[in-house]
Amino acid sequence: MNTIRYDFRSDTVTRPSAGMRAAMAEAEVGDDVFRDDPTVLQLEQRMAAMLGKDDAIYVPSGTQSNLLALMSHCGRGDEYIAGQDAHLYSHEAGGAAVLGSIQPQPIAHQADGTMALGDIEAAIKPDDHHYARTTVIALENTFGGRALPMAYMNAVAEIAQRRALGFHLDGARAFNACAALGTDIKSFTAAFDTVSICLSKGLGAPVGSVLVGRQDLIDKARRHRKMLGGSMRQSGILAAAGLYALDHNVARLADDHRRAKRLAEGLAAYPALKVVTPDTNIIFVDADKDIAERFDAAMAAAGVGILGTYGKQRWVTHIDIDDDAIDGALAAVVAFFEGK
Ligand SMILES: *Cc1c(COP(=O)(O)O)cnc(C)c1O
Repeated sequence: MNTIRYDFRSDTVTRPSAGMRAAMAEAEVGDDVFRDDPTVLQLEQRMAAMLGKDDAIYVPSGTQSNLLALMSHCGRGDEYIAGQDAHLYSHEAGGAAVLGSIQPQPIAHQADGTMALGDIEAAIKPDDHHYARTTVIALENTFGGRALPMAYMNAVAEIAQRRALGFHLDGARAFNACAALGTDIKSFTAAFDTVSICLSKGLGAPVGSVLVGRQDLIDKARRHRKMLGGSMRQSGILAAAGLYALDHNVARLADDHRRAKRLAEGLAAYPALKVVTPDTNIIFVDADKDIAERFDAAMAAAGVGILGTYGKQRWVTHIDIDDDAIDGALAAVVAFFEGK
């Protein structure tokens, strides 16, 4: 039973709106394995055009999208460079190693979330039979809710180009990054060979991600998607939600960011809560150990859903969190600290 009234656990908890459900119900469909589904084709073409890339492929999840990208960039025994806490390395069940026979070369993050350029350079292996072949560098942006600056992405792009490596972006929340940085999605993704974008997070679709990129890589991804069991049939029903999201739910991401800032300010009023000011829609809160346990319990009792316990909390705003939900959550916080 769901006793959560205000669900801040993740932007993946969103439910399709009435308008999105109507678009799904009315979608024209065909068999996408035969490339016969006009709605899937439309979503793929639209995403490719938006990012200024050759092609795109619609997939069930962001995890599969990243895996397809790595498998398309790398051969068996190759290696990819990624951040130690990058989702595609640390949160995808080791899929690249298990299913792709691809080895990770993780790099420590600096305090600002970036990888040091010198560390990236130093991790690229020389062409020597002792080493795995370094094939691709993967960045993630937003990273932990932070919008990493364009200058950083461009600096890593320069390394990838100079060392003749592929360049992949895990842009699960790329549209959030664009809203925060005030840039457009085409400029934001211009330097990358492949880009993975989630439709099922802030964009509010129930299912789906899109891998966008260079033709030869998307062609390989199409074969790998089939191999991994990710090819779907009348998936236009799902892709219609993605198209609806692109029409209706991109510009409004700024509202999520505004609400996250207001929530963060309300939380930061209490010194026991160490609040990281959010760039986008994700707030991290470190609570003093002596209150953390009671605070978590009080939020749960008040129907405020947050992720993480005992001091390390994550609050995420999204399309189903309106101004009233922020007020409701802050009222529960005030009640906890001030007993009213
Ligand atoms: C959510 C997420 C993914 C994976 O998406 P799923 O659809 O949950 O598999 C990949 N990368 C990042 C940064 C994410 O936040």
